[in-house]
Amino acid sequence: MTTQDRRKRNLIVICGFLVLLVVATAFEFGIRTPDIPVASTIVVFALFNLNLIVFLLLLVLLFRNLVKLSFERRQKVIGSKFKAKLVLAFLSLALAPAILIFIIASNFINTSIESWFKPQVERPLDQALSVAQTYYQNLEATALRHGQHLARTIVRDGLLGEDRREALAAYLMEQQDQLGLSAVTVFNAAGHELVHVKDPVLGDLPTSEVSARQVRQGLDGQEVTTVREIQAGDLIQAVTPVWSAEPARRVIGAVVVSTHVADRLEAKVRGISQAFTEYKQLKLLKNPIKGIYILMFLLMTLIIVFSFTWFGLYLARGITGPIEQLVEGTREVAAGNLSYRVQARADDEIGLLVDSFNRMTGDLAQSKTRLEAAYLDLQAKHAELEGRRRYTETVLEAIATGVVSFDQAGRLTTMNRAAARMLGLTAATPGQSLREVFASPDFDDVVALAHRVSRGKDETTERELRLRRDGAAVTLLASATALRGPDGEYAGVVFVFDDLTELLRAQRLAAWREVAQRIAHEIKNPLTPIQLSAQRLRRRLGDRPGEDKRLLEECTGTIIQEVEGLKHLVDEFSRFARMPALTPKPTDLRELVEGVLALYRESQPGLALTTRFALDLPLVAIDPDQIKRATLNLVDNAVEAVAGAGTVCVELGYSPDAGRVRLTVSDDGAGIVPEDKEKLFLPYFSTKATGMGLGLPIVHQIVSDHGGTIWVEDNLPRGSRFVIELPAAAVQPAPVAT
Ligand code: ADP
Repeated sequence: MTTQDRRKRNLIVICGFLVLLVVATAFEFGIRTPDIPVASTIVVFALFNLNLIVFLLLLVLLFRNLVKLSFERRQKVIGSKFKAKLVLAFLSLALAPAILIFIIASNFINTSIESWFKPQVERPLDQALSVAQTYYQNLEATALRHGQHLARTIVRDGLLGEDRREALAAYLMEQQDQLGLSAVTVFNAAGHELVHVKDPVLGDLPTSEVSARQVRQGLDGQEVTTVREIQAGDLIQAVTPVWSAEPARRVIGAVVVSTHVADRLEAKVRGISQAFTEYKQLKLLKNPIKGIYILMFLLMTLIIVFSFTWFGLYLARGITGPIEQLVEGTREVAAGNLSYRVQARADDEIGLLVDSFNRMTGDLAQSKTRLEAAYLDLQAKHAELEGRRRYTETVLEAIATGVVSFDQAGRLTTMNRAAARMLGLTAATPGQSLREVFASPDFDDVVALAHRVSRGKDETTERELRLRRDGAAVTLLASATALRGPDGEYAGVVFVFDDLTELLRAQRLAAWREVAQRIAHEIKNPLTPIQLSAQRLRRRLGDRPGEDKRLLEECTGTIIQEVEGLKHLVDEFSRFARMPALTPKPTDLRELVEGVLALYRESQPGLALTTRFALDLPLVAIDPDQIKRATLNLVDNAVEAVAGAGTVCVELGYSPDAGRVRLTVSDDGAGIVPEDKEKLFLPYFSTKATGMGLGLPIVHQIVSDHGGTIWVEDNLPRGSRFVIELPAAAVQPAPVAT
């Protein structure tokens, strides 16, 4: 409700009351008895109206509260039921005694007011008044009688004459004294005062004052008595005309006899009379007074009822207010607003509840912030862990060592690319059991290792494995280590596979080189003296005739030729034994390969030389001369294998994830039998009649020196395939060939 609306409503209420007041007053004046003085009527009616207004006001307020309450109940406002119950309880508690008190009080007032106006009260008042009135009447009659007596004597003795003034005064003084009159005044026919005598005890009381109208009445022949109020009491004055003697019979003067009624007596008489008048008025106001009292009791009853209702409402509001706010608070909290605080203040249990609620929401808000912080922390940790996991995975994927792990239940958890390649298990998926992954009988040793570790026989154990991969023999060192949880319990097994093939090959190669070097050294030393001796023999004995000369020349020729051959052999040995040091530089492999193939394109026209190069091939840091030599060797072998009429293909591939470039030389020649594949890279293995068997060992040496690997596969459908993998780290991308 706006302020304007409220002002308007208040104005209407005030106007309503004013109209009510006017109507009530008009009605009361309508039934008013004219005998009652206006002043007392106004007081009575003002009281009545005031009561009425307060009564109506309370009635309206009470009604308003009750209507509001029932409205709230219907609207299902929170707390309205409790309010209604409390108000009803207070109302029913207050109503019975209040009504009882009202009835008793009304009855009591009714009977007491009735008893005020009983005849027993009225009669003595009435009689007292008539006593007072009779007393005054008697005084008036006595004064008249004395006046008549004095008038008669004055006429009889002719005391009104001008010359008899002193005699009149003397007579009057005597009569005053004898008759106990308060004062006597004689007027002549013209109305002039002739003589005035008064009781000396009256002092200077104004006894001579007589109203001119009275004197006139006396002179007109009337006898008049009046009661005049003077300073100290009443003065009863009787005017008697003085008639002349018969037969003229006319008024020749007037005698005024005054009797003084003393102060106290007069007051008492007046009091009685006033009391009586008031009593009469009161009697007339009997019903309005009764009305006022009853209204007043009604008002009190209403005040009690209203106070109880109001108190009930007040109490209920003291309880339901905070409860309402608490309900609102729970709604807010449920909606997620944890900063909500209930403002209601109370120092009772409700206050305790409000405080607890506020504390609870405060705690909730705090826990929420803590939870959020913990959640953020967890997220950060999770991200960190995820980062670490990814890093570990990347490292695992990048390393050349094969890593395979199984959990406690023997399910595959990790297998890095190196392991998958080494073991030829590219189809293995996480979750597979150890038996499923290592199903091939080749892996029986691996399964045995796992059993040893899982049974706790060994913490770490290793074994050399010999497998066949793409037809070639591979030697792996498999080591199994038990994984332990924080409390030392068995949590799985991790296998580490190292490819020893290259290492073993290198070791064998090194041994061979050592031997070659020694042999070369041992052989080379006597070669020159042998050659020189043979030449010397030929020179000295060259002049021998016939058969000897022919034999000599044939023998020395053979010696010199074989020594030459031996020298060549020893030179080859030395070259193999002393490979020059690498001088790597960024090299475009495509250019290098094209350069090699160009040598064959012209000389071998029946040969199909094809290339397949990856587009994203980077520059690789290699020794171009050495790699060229290696490539030349492989292509040479391939060309020989296809016997000048077939297809030789050179491919260049790049795998950025593994950081390796791959050079493949394949041919569709006769291929290599499995038994030979193992020996290919050993020196002096050759199937060719003139072959030295040093080509592939040198290729292997060059590749190893570059940190790469070389292996041979079957080329499908026929022929063989030599694959060189070189690390491509620390190189920039090669310009894309157009
Ligand atoms: P050489 O060529 O002097 O025999 P290598 O070491 O180059 O020596 O070759 C060793 C042997 O490997 C060869 O004798 C041959 O039997 C075999 N070989 C090499 N390359 C191929 C190929 N592309 N196809 C078939 N056999 C090959």
